Amino acid sequence: MLAAIAEVPRWRFVPAESRAEAWADRALPIAAGQTISQPYMVALMTQELVLVGTETVLEIGTGSGYQAAILSRLCRRVVTIERIPELSLGAKQVLESLGCTNVECLIGDGSLGCAEQAPFDRIIVTAGAPKVPPQLCEQLEFGGRLVIPTGTHQPQMLQVVMHTAQGIVTTDVCPCSFVPLIGAAAWSE
Ligand code: SAH
Repeated sequence: MLAAIAEVPRWRFVPAESRAEAWADRALPIAAGQTISQPYMVALMTQELVLVGTETVLEIGTGSGYQAAILSRLCRRVVTIERIPELSLGAKQVLESLGCTNVECLIGDGSLGCAEQAPFDRIIVTAGAPKVPPQLCEQLEFGGRLVIPTGTHQPQMLQVVMHTAQGIVTTDVCPCSFVPLIGAAAWSE
């Protein structure tokens, strides 16, 4: 995970005016009033996914595409969904230019997951949800892990949801602060 962080040029995912700050350990603004997550949070969420390299990962909230680029180096395939077309298209371009050929960028409401391609070995939500959308639990492979910030608008609790033999088991990781997940199974616009 640290090697992936070291290798992926974060500056390629931030607007030109923020390039000087691209390696600062904080969230930065991107287009459409959204943010690229703090590198520490990207690393922590990636670590909580416990990837071995064979997984298909669903990411909800493509944003800049940075988290998807990190994941692309650590798993077999990434499907990433973004509700704002401008962001999805921008991310797709940068990911292609960096040779991340195992990432598929979709435009739509990721709060409902991606039923057509389910189940997923791992699911990562990079926007804050009021609660864990049930659709995401249903699309999680047996033995899989879902990493998601849930709670009020600000802050949220980073949670790990595991699909185990005992059923769905949820654990808290730490408080965090994300832009809202907006969609049918999340906050309304
Ligand atoms: N992972 C991103 C962080 C993006 S911030 C990165 O590495 O840069 C969260 C993103 O989630 C925003 O771009 C926002 O538009 C998107 N988002 C919010 N609700 C969504 C939904 N229901 N489906 C898909 N994307 C959503």
